[in-house]
Amino acid sequence: MKQTTVYLVDDEPDMLELLASVVEMSDMLPVAFTQASDFFQQVTELDNQSIMALDLHMPEMDGIEVMRRLATMDNTPRLILMSGHDEGVLHSAEKLGRAHNLKIITSLKKPIVLREFQQLLVSQKNITERVASTSTPKKNEVTAAELKKAIEQNELVLHYQPQIIIATGELSGVEALVRWNHPERGVVFPDEFISLAEEDGLMKDLTRWVIDQLVKQEQLWQHEVDRLEVSVNISAIDITSLTLPEQLAELLAENKLSPSKLTLEVTESALMGELVKSLDILTRLRMRGIGLSIDDFGTGYSSLSQLHRVPFTELKIDQSFVYSMLEDDEARAIVKTCVMLGHELKMKVVAEGVETKEHLDLLREIGCDIAQGYYFSRAIPADEMTKRLHSEWP
Ligand code: C2E
Ligand code: MG
Ligand code: MG
Repeated sequence: MKQTTVYLVDDEPDMLELLASVVEMSDMLPVAFTQASDFFQQVTELDNQSIMALDLHMPEMDGIEVMRRLATMDNTPRLILMSGHDEGVLHSAEKLGRAHNLKIITSLKKPIVLREFQQLLVSQKNITERVASTSTPKKNEVTAAELKKAIEQNELVLHYQPQIIIATGELSGVEALVRWNHPERGVVFPDEFISLAEEDGLMKDLTRWVIDQLVKQEQLWQHEVDRLEVSVNISAIDITSLTLPEQLAELLAENKLSPSKLTLEVTESALMGELVKSLDILTRLRMRGIGLSIDDFGTGYSSLSQLHRVPFTELKIDQSFVYSMLEDDEARAIVKTCVMLGHELKMKVVAEGVETKEHLDLLREIGCDIAQGYYFSRAIPADEMTKRLHSEWP
C-alpha cells in the first residue's frame, strides 16, 4: 500500500524538523512547508488519505484561512490543528473546520507532545488501512444509516465535563456529552448528528443509549465519591414520550441510584412543541425527584412564563453571554439578570463557557452558583474523569 503523505505546515523550521522525523518514524511521508502559500502553489492535487498538521498561528496566511481555502478543493486532507493558544481557540477552530466540511482529526495544544503526535498518526494509519480494505471513504456528511449502526455497535462514547461549585471550588457534578468515534472521520461532535437523529427518528434510541451508559457510569462513580450529580441532554422528541418518567424511574431504581442525582437538560426551543404534553412529562419527572435544567437559557424563543410553568430546578446561562461578558456590558447585564432571576425562582444557576479565571472571578462576584467550561476542563473520557474525581480544578 502507498505511504500516507503527511503535510506539515508551520512557520517554525525547528518544529517542522521534529514533526517530520516523527512522521518518518511512523512509516509515513512528510512534506513540510514554512509558508502555507507554498503549499497551495506546490500541491495542486491532494489525495483523500493524506493528513495535514496545521499550525493555526502563522504570520503570512494563518490556519483559519488555510482551512477556508482547503474547503474549496475537491479532495481534502484530514487535519490535525495545532496552536499555542488556549483550548477555546482550538475548539472554535475545530468547529469552524467542521462547518467547512473538513475532516478534523483533533487539535493539539503547543508545545506538541511528540509521543502523542505519533500515536495519533499511527491510529490514523490503522484507520486508513482498514478503510482501504473495506470500502471507499465518504467525504461529506454522516448518514442516518451510519448513525443507526453507530448506536447499535457502540461507536458512540460519552465524555464528561466537570461542573464546579464557584464558592468552594469543589466538583459538584458532570455533564455527559456524546461523541461519535467514526471509523473514517475520527471524532464526530454532536452538532453534526443530533439534528440528523431528530430528523430520522433515531433520537429515542440515542437518548436511551446515552442514559443507559450514564447510569452505568454513575454506578461506578458512586463508590468513589459521596455526591456526584450527573446531567444529560435530552431532546424535544424525548419529551413527547409519555412513559419517559416511569422508564427513567425504573432504570434508576434498578441501579439503586437516587433520582435527585440526575438532571435532564432541556433547551428552550425543545419546549416549543406540544406544550401540554411536555408539561405533563416534565412535571411527572420532577415529581419523581429527577432534576430539570433549562439549557442555553436566553437563546430560545420561549417567554419567561415557561420558566414559571415548568418546574425547573436549574438554569443554565447560555455560553455566548458568559463568554463575552468581560468586554460586553450588555452580555454582563444579561448574566447578572439570569442569576437574579434563577435565584428568585429558587433555581440553581450554572454558567457555561467559563474559559478564563477572569470569567470565574466575575461570576463569583455576581453570585452565580456553578461554573462549567474550558477553564476547568473540556469534556473528557470517563476513565480520565475517574482519575480526577478528587483532584483540584482546574
Ligand atoms: P450543550 O448541552 O449546551 O453543551 C455545551 C457545549 O459547549 C458542549 O459542546 C461543550 O463541549 C461546549 N463547551 C463547554 N465548555 C465550553 C467553553 O468553555 N467554551 C466553549 N466555546 N464551548 C464550551 P458539544 O459537546 O459539542 O455539544 C453541543 C451540543 O450538543 C450540546 O450543547 C447539546 O445540546 C447537544 N448534545 C450533546 N450531547 C448530547 C446528547 O447526549 N443528547 C442530546 N440530545 N444532545 C446532546
Ligand atoms: Mg447541555
Ligand atoms: Mg448549553
